[in-house]
This record gives sequence, structure tokens and C-alpha cells, in this order.
Amino acid sequence: MKIGFLKSEDPRCPLSETSAKKFKKLDVALLIENGLGAELDLDLEQLDGVVDKSRDEILADADMVYSTDPLSEADLSKLKKDSILVSFYAPFNAVNQVDTLTGKAIQVFSMDMIPRTTLAQSMDVLSSMASIAGYKSVLLAAERLPRYFPMMMTAAGTVKPATVMILGAGVAGLQAIATARRLGAKVEVFDVRQAVKEEVEGLGGKFIEVEGATDDKDAGGYAVEQTEEFKQRQKDKIAERVANADVVITTAQLRGRPAPTLVTKAMVENMKHGSVIIDLAASTGGNCELTDGETTVMHQGVQIIGDSHLANSALIDASALLSNNIYNYTQQFFKEGQVNVDLENEIIAKSRIYTYEKS
Ligand code: NAD
Repeated sequence: MKIGFLKSEDPRCPLSETSAKKFKKLDVALLIENGLGAELDLDLEQLDGVVDKSRDEILADADMVYSTDPLSEADLSKLKKDSILVSFYAPFNAVNQVDTLTGKAIQVFSMDMIPRTTLAQSMDVLSSMASIAGYKSVLLAAERLPRYFPMMMTAAGTVKPATVMILGAGVAGLQAIATARRLGAKVEVFDVRQAVKEEVEGLGGKFIEVEGATDDKDAGGYAVEQTEEFKQRQKDKIAERVANADVVITTAQLRGRPAPTLVTKAMVENMKHGSVIIDLAASTGGNCELTDGETTVMHQGVQIIGDSHLANSALIDASALLSNNIYNYTQQFFKEGQVNVDLENEIIAKSRIYTYEKS
């Protein structure tokens, strides 16, 4: 069995020394595209069981190919017949590349489709990256805010703590709460999922309640679209709290749909001069009306930073977690030393997005 790791535009490295050593125990040969890991100064090709190959050699030879970016049509056509491709196709998004797979004699698995179950937690790349992004968003905000985060009692007078408001308490939001609290800020939090209230409070955040949210337990841990009436009530409440905040970190996403607009232009205009908004939902349209993709916008003294790739600012840990997630996921394909695409296995079945139907 040969597993190939391709280079991507994505700067994260999908294989680490630690994961390579674990793969060796599965008795697989690892083929890496020439120079993979060089940017992180990883000497992967020196490891036992790892072989440096060209991209085309890997496509032609590997039984299982891993590529963080979806493959081009040209690369897809070079894959070995009946091989397994693992990537991130986000098939729930309107803009995806799933169509390019049609007619290819391969099976494709998309790691963003791994179910959000306890068993699958160790393979959940979205969570790993969200956690880093939540942490880094607070550090970035602290660095950009022309104020202290903690309360400071100095000889020259007392400085009040900053107020950080976090919209969306999923994986990124919870990490942002913990980080902002560690830096001494006051933290206020909104989420449509009432279930997170206890977690928020446990981390020292104040959960702002808005009555009447729709919470669908069958949505696999994801938030669902809210009623117009709820949205208006939530908007009023957010407007009141945003005006008081020094930092707003937004993380609210809806799977397969544009992110909800939670912070309007008028709300931004009511914020204090120097305030900072970090919009982690930028790649799906943003939670702030003024977010302009992955750029920084200045509006009436408020900085709005759109960034959905903040995890890459901790590239070493992002790569280490990604490679662990990939190893844990790949293990699902092995049974008694043999490759086994077991569709009874929920993790495999739910993450399989394409299979060639032989006619
Ligand atoms: P996400 O990125 O989909 O969204 C971030 C947060 O924004 C969520 O908490 C969501 O409820 C909230 N949100 C959405 N719309 C909103 C709105 N209009 N107003 C305010 N908040 C809004 O979420 P996520 O970080 O991927 O996590 C979602 C859930 O899934 C969490 O409960 C998390 O613990 C769970 N989860 C489970 C696993 C696992 O068990 N393997 C892995 C990851 C996440």
C-alpha cells in the first residue's frame, strides 16, 4: 500500500515526522512530492519509509493520495485506477469542484464531511483549525487595539478592562473566550445554540440571551437559519452590546450557506474610535456588513479585519494538528493491515463524496 502526499497552495504540511512514524506502523510506504515540508524545515524524506517522488509519479503510483487542495482536471486524470483520493472539496458549498470528479475511476473522500461525533473528533481538521483561529483572533485584536485588555491599576490611574464581544461560541468562539479571559478582558457572548451557555459561563464569559432561537438537534452540531422575528430581536440586542465593546470577534457560520450578517454598518458607526472587529467568517461572506473578503477595512475609526485563514499564522501547530488528523482518519481505512473501505463505518460513509460507478 502506497500513500502519496501532494503539495498544495495551502501552506500547511499534511505530513509530520510524528505522523510519518505512526504510518510506518501501518506498514505503508509514504510517497511525498519533492520538497514537501521544506518550508517548515522538515526533513521528511530522511525518515524511514518515506520516498521523495515527482507529482506525476505519485499520481500514477499511489493507492491513496492526499491533497489539501482539490485536484485539477489534469491531475485527476493521472490518478491510478481504483485509487482513493482524500482532500477538502466542501461539497456543501455552492462553489465547489465536485463536478470535476465525474467519470474518474476513483473514490473520493472529503475530510470536511467527517461527522461531528465524539469518535471522529481526533480527525476533525475544521475543529483543529478553528481552535487556532479563535486563539489567534484574540491576539491579533489585542495587538491592534489601542488599549490594554486587562484592568490596570497604575500610579497614573486605573485603566478599565477592555470588553470583547464574541459572536458564535463554536470551536473558534470558545477558544477566543478562553484566550480573551486569560488576557484579562471582559467577555460577552452571543450564540443561537442555547446549549453552549454553560460552556461559555464555565470559561468566564457572559452569555447574552435572546429569546426564541431555533436550535435543531438534528443539524449535526451546526446552527440553522433563524426566523425573521428572532433575527430582529438579536439585531437589537447585538446593536446595544456592540456599541459598548472594544473588540468584536465574529465566528458564526452556516453550513453550505452565506454567513449571517450580525454586525451592520450602522452598528460599526456606533462603535468607539479605535475598536477592532475580527471576522473569521470572511470566506463565506462575513458576519459584518463591512467585511471585504480577507482584507482590512477602516471605517470611521474602526478596523474590520476579515480573515478565515488565521490558523495559518500558527503554521507549525496547524501543520502538526492537520497531519495528526489525517493519520487518525487514514487509520479508519485499515483493518487487520489491509485497506478496507467499510461503508458500515459512519466516518468513512459520510465523508465519501464520490465513487466511480462501473457500468
Ligand atoms: P460553526 O463554525 O459552524 O459556527 C460557529 C458558531 O456560530 C456556532 O456555535 C453557531 O451556533 C454560531 N452561530 C451560527 N449562526 C449564528 C447566529 N445567527 N448568531 C449567533 N451565533 C451563530 O461552529 P463549529 O465551531 O464548527 O461548532 C459547532 C458545534 O459543533 C459545536 O457545538 C461544537 O462543539 C460541535 N463540534 C463537534 C465536533 C465533534 O464532536 N467531532 C467537532 C467540531 C464541532
